Amino acid sequence: MPSIFEQDVMYVPGVGPKRKEILNKELNIRTFGDLLEYYPYKYVDRSRIYRSDELSPDMPFVQLKGKILSFEEFEMGPRKKRLVAHFHDGQGRIVDLVWFARTQYVTKSIKVNTEYIVFGKPSVFNGRFQIAHPEVEPATDLQLSSMGMQPYYNTTEKMKTMGLTSRSIERIVKSMLERIPSPIDETLPPFITGPLHLVSRDDALRHVHYPKTTDEMQRARLRLKFEELFYVQLNILRYAADQRRKYRGYVFSRVGDLFNGFFRYRLPFTLTNAQKRVIREIRQDMGSGRQMNRLLQGDVGSGKTLVALMSMLIALDNGYQACIMAPTEILAEQHLATIREFLGDMPIRVELLTGIVKGKKRQEILDGLSDGSVQILVGTHAIIEDPVQFYRLGFAVVDEQHRFGVAQRAKLWGKSENPPHVLVMTATPIPRTLAMTIYGDLDVSVIDELPPGRKPIQTEHRFDNRITSLYESIRRQVRMGRQIYIVFPLIKESEKIDLKNLEEGYETLCQVFSEFRLSKVHGKMKAKEKEDEMQRFVRGETQILVATTVIEVGVNVPNASVMVILDAQRFGLSQLHQLRGRVGRGADQSYCILVTPYELSKETRRRIDIMCDTNDGFQIAEADLRLRGPGDLEGTQQSGMAFDLKIADIARDGQIVQMARDEAQKIIDADPTCERPEHAMLWNRLAELRKTNINWGVIS
Ligand code: ADP
Ligand code: MG
Repeated sequence: MPSIFEQDVMYVPGVGPKRKEILNKELNIRTFGDLLEYYPYKYVDRSRIYRSDELSPDMPFVQLKGKILSFEEFEMGPRKKRLVAHFHDGQGRIVDLVWFARTQYVTKSIKVNTEYIVFGKPSVFNGRFQIAHPEVEPATDLQLSSMGMQPYYNTTEKMKTMGLTSRSIERIVKSMLERIPSPIDETLPPFITGPLHLVSRDDALRHVHYPKTTDEMQRARLRLKFEELFYVQLNILRYAADQRRKYRGYVFSRVGDLFNGFFRYRLPFTLTNAQKRVIREIRQDMGSGRQMNRLLQGDVGSGKTLVALMSMLIALDNGYQACIMAPTEILAEQHLATIREFLGDMPIRVELLTGIVKGKKRQEILDGLSDGSVQILVGTHAIIEDPVQFYRLGFAVVDEQHRFGVAQRAKLWGKSENPPHVLVMTATPIPRTLAMTIYGDLDVSVIDELPPGRKPIQTEHRFDNRITSLYESIRRQVRMGRQIYIVFPLIKESEKIDLKNLEEGYETLCQVFSEFRLSKVHGKMKAKEKEDEMQRFVRGETQILVATTVIEVGVNVPNASVMVILDAQRFGLSQLHQLRGRVGRGADQSYCILVTPYELSKETRRRIDIMCDTNDGFQIAEADLRLRGPGDLEGTQQSGMAFDLKIADIARDGQIVQMARDEAQKIIDADPTCERPEHAMLWNRLAELRKTNINWGVIS
């Protein structure tokens, strides 16, 4: 027999075929179960009746009980009326209830001298308390006894026009809950819920929609959030455990001549402590016999490339090949140059493979890869294309990960007998809770220290009406021999207009700076053209690079010391931080100038202030997560790791994520092959969740 949760939502009293269709279309609610998991986004305390003499204008929603003494109507212009009801609760003050619309409906349905409960937000107008567009309901005994926390559900515009308001969802959910027999099946075993003091699933699901008190509501939500995050973690950790069992990792037991020789004779500076620690972590992984999957987070300029190179030397010392993949050709070329310079005359064959390496040269490299004479391969996505065969690929580095999908990471595995060790490097710091949720199968290393001697970038905010003085500062910098980035926003919805802005802006800048040479790059240019323009700037032939965010990722021009971001209000925090990271790579003092219009929203102001206050990528990422929510974060979407969390909030529920992670880890440690009978409930539930609607990123 199918469970009641799988029944069509149409059979909930009060729904029917028409509302079913709206619920399907607008909210993707199809079954009883879907509706049950459509949780309120907020609650308003309706358990308390206020007295009119307690009111103050800064209060949130309140409710009063009393009678309407009289109505008054005011003409507000042609066909516009304001309806005022003078309301009295017997406690001294008269409160005006005010309507600007649907006034006819109000005068018809609401009577004078009848007891009502009035609900809304109080304010003061002309010295009198008023509540605009209040909810008014008869104060019957039934109404009063059932009042607790009132749930609010998200609805869409379309739903509202069809009369399906938060209030109607409330009623529908209520009648459904009455129909669902108690108790609703438990989905967490008592050895988890007990010690953590979590309420039962039955209580949680009923109380999340109908809490009598704040406490009841919080307990219900905690239980549901925990459960949601727990199964996400269980899923990820189980996947990781399976992978470990299925594949052996190459064992790199030796630290040999190449690593040691490099360390002793070629290393041009002392490693930072953070770099040393991370290299140690990587060495341990590589020697452990299990395949390494490690995420290396480090702010721009923290020296990840060197860590990658030294790790590659370990692979080479053990007779394996290594590769490093970058998201663009320019970056791949830069890596090649950097690596060759670091290695100097060491006897190591390093080659570049990108889309533009063609013909005989390409064939030579492919041959070298398959006979093992090419030891380090630097390249773009071209590396994972089919014809590329390695002799023995033991280690792969993926730089600036958020441009590489999970699928691409997986393709690497076809390049050798066992999966190579993988190091994924990213400069977009991902807050811990988020990393735990989306990269739960990866171990995480962090470089939280910049090489010594760096001057922190100075960030300033300028309004665009002062642009002329900004041009002067730029001119001074260029005369001192520096190079400048000027970035225009290019955002999808209005690409055409943006592009026009960029072109016009570029023309203007060419005139303003007619004594200098300028380059221009944007995403709509042909790859070759883009490369050429970029290269001119990299080689120092042009002094000013006018660009869109295509320069965001990893390009290294140490001589560029000023980053000007126009219309900075249109960028997200992480994006601004990435852009800023393009400067501050040389010895000179660098600047980042954020230009915005004078009028700014509060939220935008916060973003700009954070940028001016800190250079710390992790602080910025945390702030970004709080301001935008995880769904928006770059890296979650681009890597195809969508979330489908119904109640937990990665940004705010960090502690619960940790709790869930710990519990899931205990289960996996105790029962790696999922055989223990007391865990059957968990594995069954997990299978059920995976079958239905869950999009759990890494694994789906
Ligand atoms: P990112 O982490 O952004 O990839 P890079 O690897 O490009 O950073 O390093 C930025 C610069 O810092 C490079 O020029 C690199 O040579 C230099 N660098 C790396 N490690 C150190 C160190 N320990 N001391 C001094 N400079 C370093
Ligand atoms: Mg880098």
